[in-house]
Amino acid sequence: MTGHEFTDDELERWSRNILLPEVGVDGQRKLAAARALVVGAGGLGSPAILYLAAAGVGTLGIADGDRVELSNLNRQVLHGAADVGRPKVESARDAVLARSPACRVVTIFCRLTARNVRQTVRGWDVVLDATDNFPARFLISDACWLERVPLVSAGVVGFQGQLLTVLPQAGSPCYRCLLPEPSADQYAATCGQAGVLGAAAGVLGAMQAVEAIKVLLGIGHGFERRLLVYDALAGKVRIANRVKDPACALCGPKATIADVVEYRLTCCPGGVAGPDGCCMPAAPLKRQAKSVRRRGAKGR
Ligand SMILES: [Zn+2]
Repeated sequence: MTGHEFTDDELERWSRNILLPEVGVDGQRKLAAARALVVGAGGLGSPAILYLAAAGVGTLGIADGDRVELSNLNRQVLHGAADVGRPKVESARDAVLARSPACRVVTIFCRLTARNVRQTVRGWDVVLDATDNFPARFLISDACWLERVPLVSAGVVGFQGQLLTVLPQAGSPCYRCLLPEPSADQYAATCGQAGVLGAAAGVLGAMQAVEAIKVLLGIGHGFERRLLVYDALAGKVRIANRVKDPACALCGPKATIADVVEYRLTCCPGGVAGPDGCCMPAAPLKRQAKSVRRRGAKGR
């Protein structure tokens, strides 16, 4: 394979990747040419973003409409105490460039909505959904399927997390083959006062980076037909098979969903949609912080 010629410094930096026969110099060139978008620079996105940058992914997109809050720091290891109040995409970019100065970082300071999600995910080689709620998960997975972009989706709440991959190909199950619609239980699990163990989010976020790198390199056995469920408290990992639902409204032969569907969060504090579809704070940060303390932190 021809392409990027590595300098001596780059060869030393990536040497532990290149020593892997499944990666090698050709694989490292693929990573250097790759474009990965991480939606959510929180508990899942923190390790995912750091490991993708550390692996040598050439272009890293980071989409997040939130600012760093003190209550984020139990799990969002991208951000430090001095970053409280800054847009997460900015502190994430600084953390990436401190580790991998050659990485091209594209920051998208924006909450994804039905109006902007398809153009945001379009053209990336892989998207990692590292958001904290089911409406966002459906929005991103629909958009990735419709735009034919591979997706690695994860979620974590309390001590439990899940992960799956969706490859937008005929014969592969989509996210809606597993969960046709968001349920009331899912809203409650995301938005209630559930809390989240930071290290459990770290496990799932690091796994998202692993699976995204496998997708980019075309190696290994992924989760495109399986679901991983991790219970940190019980010390259990369960892997279930996923199959394509012939009646799926998104990917089935009689699909009825031709564009993204935006479900509304009705029980979370946070932003409201602005005139361009992007997020604007609903309240000044101090009031938001008090509100979060009253209602409990979001479980990303
Ligand atoms: Zn489907």
